[in-house]
Amino acid sequence: MLYPLVQISYIVASILFILGLKQMGRPKTAVRGNLLGASGMLLAVVMTLVWIANGGVSDQAASFWFIGAGVIIGAAVGATLALRVQMTQMPQLVALFNGFGGAASVFVAAAELFSRAGGEAMTSDVLLATAVSGTIGAVTFWGSLVAFGKLQELSWMKKPFKVPMQHFVNGGLTLIVILLTVLMVTSSSIGIHITLYVFIALIASALGVLLTNPIGGADMPVVIALLNSYSGLAAAATGFVIDNNVLIIAGSLVGASGVILTQLMCKAMNRSIVNVLFGVMDAGGSVGDADEIYANVRSTSADDVALILETAQRVVFVPGYGMAVAQAQHAVRNLGKMLEENGATVEYAIHPVAGRMPGHMNVLLAEADVDYDKLMEMDAINPTMDTCDVAIVIGANDVVNPVAKTDPQSPIAGMPIIDVDKARTVIVIKRSLSPGFAGIPNPLFAADNTMMLYGDGKVAVLEIAAAMREG
Ligand code: NDP
Repeated sequence: MLYPLVQISYIVASILFILGLKQMGRPKTAVRGNLLGASGMLLAVVMTLVWIANGGVSDQAASFWFIGAGVIIGAAVGATLALRVQMTQMPQLVALFNGFGGAASVFVAAAELFSRAGGEAMTSDVLLATAVSGTIGAVTFWGSLVAFGKLQELSWMKKPFKVPMQHFVNGGLTLIVILLTVLMVTSSSIGIHITLYVFIALIASALGVLLTNPIGGADMPVVIALLNSYSGLAAAATGFVIDNNVLIIAGSLVGASGVILTQLMCKAMNRSIVNVLFGVMDAGGSVGDADEIYANVRSTSADDVALILETAQRVVFVPGYGMAVAQAQHAVRNLGKMLEENGATVEYAIHPVAGRMPGHMNVLLAEADVDYDKLMEMDAINPTMDTCDVAIVIGANDVVNPVAKTDPQSPIAGMPIIDVDKARTVIVIKRSLSPGFAGIPNPLFAADNTMMLYGDGKVAVLEIAAAMREG
């Protein structure tokens, strides 16, 4: 009687996931969508626990207590992390969550395989799912740890190591994993299954590091979206291993949405997934001589910017990662309002990879109640940038770097940028001439129509607003 009820609750949970995902597609309904998805997961977890408590899992009376302990420890760690983490560290947190999802798949599949010792071997289809789970899970875990290090901008991760003949090594390791999987699926010995699984997981771990480590520059968003997708695929494979429908459906949804996001990121970055994964574009490439490029940089003051803005008819804010660091979104919204009251048209140009996670700028500006109609996608705003009186670049760097268009050797070569250089006047607000995530100088800062306003993003914007009020 309980089993059908559990299955029905899994279907209800899956419907909630799908409805949640749909609602997450629009900023206005995103919070509700998130809650729907979380409720679905809560339902699935509670019903699974009820099932186990009622003897649903044979011969494993202790499971309930292990699961309970896992839920409590996991919830405590997750809640502490989520409460403590700074908004700017959210991408790292997401990378870690992806990684833990991958690791969980490796361990759950391993537990199921190891529990067969001395009993009946898995059928070949379940063995295949186990090997896939171990492979994708391990690649996801180690790849996500490397991505975490890169997002955290750990100094020892800045110079990515490359093994000699990296492509051949990666190709060779992939072939070995495939070979071991074939051996595992065709063998009937549980001992051999377990040994091969351990080797598969170890080799896949090395692959996770080797595939992710050389990727740098502006290609990280694609990798993060891909790892997100992998974590879902690993979970779906594990669902087949333990015969759990809700895991298969939830994993497939994460996998599919991750693939869609990867495609969107590739399109936004003008990259092919093969290029990113196999290092055609890596963190190397030409960087340019900063002293030479910055020989003629002009700086300005908040008072002067306020004067320029007084007469501006069309102002475009171009936010980037520095706006998130400075938490300047509310100050930016208020300055935008002042400019509108002054008769100017105000828009926000959103680059798809600005910040450190997909949709980062949209989230920040939505939090500050910026009208969604004013957020313009890159393709929509670029053709009109030459009619912009003042472009205010706040904490953005790579996404406005013209080198992407001019230097084919650059790590960001080919990436579409917001064409701020076409605006009549460009004000760049940042603390120094330091490079952005890709680590390269930006000739925009030295352009004839650019003026640098050095300082923390929030402080600078507040000073401009104060100067306008006084003026
Ligand atoms: P960048 O990382 O290129 O530049 C950010 C700039 O913000 C820095 O140059 C920094 O300069 C400035 N800054 C930092 N703190 C402050 C502050 N308190 N006040 C004012 N400015 C500040 O950011 P972009 O958004 O232009 O580009 C995003 C980059 O991150 C791209 O290379 C993208 O590929 C990559 N990336 C994006 C991901 C995504 O999903 N969106 C994920 C992973 C990577 P200074 O120190 O001088 O102040």
